[in-house]
Amino acid sequence: MPEQLLVLKYDGASITSARDIRNMAAYVAGLSRGSRLVVVCSATGGTTDTLLSIADSIKRGDKRPAERLASGMIKRHKRLAVRVAEKASVQKRMLAAIDSDSAELMALIDGMVLLGEVTPGMMDYMLSFGERLSIKLVAGAISDRRGARAVPLTGKEAGIVTDSEFGQARPLMDTTRLRVAKTLGGAMSGGAIPVVGGFVGADQHGRFTTLGRGGSDYTATIVGSCIGADEIWLMGEVDGLLTADPSIVRGARTLRHVSYVEAVEMALFEAKQIHPRTFEPVLAREIPMRIRSSRNTGDPGTLVTASPPPTVRNTVKCVSRIRDSGLVDIQGGSMVGTPGTAARIFDTLAEAGINVMMISQNPSESSITIVVRDSDLARAVNSLELKLLGKIIKRLEVTTNMSIVALIGSGMRGTVGVASKVFEAMGRAGINVAMITQGSSELNLAFVVRNEDADGAVRALHDMFGLGRAG
Ligand code: ASP
Ligand code: MG
Repeated sequence: MPEQLLVLKYDGASITSARDIRNMAAYVAGLSRGSRLVVVCSATGGTTDTLLSIADSIKRGDKRPAERLASGMIKRHKRLAVRVAEKASVQKRMLAAIDSDSAELMALIDGMVLLGEVTPGMMDYMLSFGERLSIKLVAGAISDRRGARAVPLTGKEAGIVTDSEFGQARPLMDTTRLRVAKTLGGAMSGGAIPVVGGFVGADQHGRFTTLGRGGSDYTATIVGSCIGADEIWLMGEVDGLLTADPSIVRGARTLRHVSYVEAVEMALFEAKQIHPRTFEPVLAREIPMRIRSSRNTGDPGTLVTASPPPTVRNTVKCVSRIRDSGLVDIQGGSMVGTPGTAARIFDTLAEAGINVMMISQNPSESSITIVVRDSDLARAVNSLELKLLGKIIKRLEVTTNMSIVALIGSGMRGTVGVASKVFEAMGRAGINVAMITQGSSELNLAFVVRNEDADGAVRALHDMFGLGRAG
């Protein structure tokens, strides 16, 4: 059998302490004896946030705190460097590489302070340092193991080419495919394990870009699809995707197998936050993914594929909630039968940069209800009032401190009685349902309850659908 080609992505929390980095390196080195590997890693825990704080103090014109934060971050990485590897030659190489990044970072801070501004392009340049530092530690720790050799590559060096939408860049897949296959293929055929920095790429002019927070997941699937990986594993703090948040439901359990479309829905709600675009690159190629624990490596985690076997297609897979949402009921007699009403409402909200999480309209068309995050609520109401109140809208009714509860599972499609079970469970628990939506894909049934009822609703549904039972 030919060797498997695997992409392993490590999140920041899994590579923050020297001990975790050493354990990760031992695991990767062991695995590399039977498989060909590419490692993708995030910045070490908290580093991206520190870089954002550095940019913030530059914006405020405070150079001192920016420099203090930067030198603290560099020191932390140097301390890790001497603790994750024993070989003097490996340590020396890591420290030299970190020093050169440090010099560049300090020069960047000077330049930004001089210019007195932080453009989105500068911000991405600044953020690139998180993964530039972490890849050196991870590659060093792997190279320190007997028989293993790793090379650190930034996303840019690996060949990830994106558009120039700083902060939310998208890969230009055709160019990226050619370059990544060549760079990583070259490194691997020379017997090395490429360690690619997640989250960061470069546009066609070579300027650093980032893929959005949590973007290392996305890097892993971009890379995996470019090299035709057999599997992509997201290694993180949790054992996999769960039937519910274990801090709410004691009997929550790891799901063994879900489909891509289910995983996309779950990524939004689950405790394990996955970058929303992560599944895009693997959909067409149907590359299986696993969501696994970086520490508990004996657990196979959750397998994600195009179509799980019928035995695991049980009706509902998981139940979760998003707290702190606000409900806006938009009412007006002149909305009835007037084409373009919804368009004007959503245009107004889009202009104000509001993300709408749920929408419903009753067939009488006299009201449209939307749900937004509490933090967006004031702006949402304000923009609707300014633009549309007294015109197409007569009244706005606002309810705060609400939660969205969602049931996810492709087996709900065409299954009779799911909604009635939901309402029965809510009725028994004495929980009032303020709004309900279900897309025609029937993948996700969501409803809105008060914050204080949300955890009770999750428990009642977990119980009602028997999610705690193995299956
Ligand atoms: N370091 C980036 C972040 O903190 C990307 C990632 O960790 O996936 O968002
Ligand atoms: Mg993450």
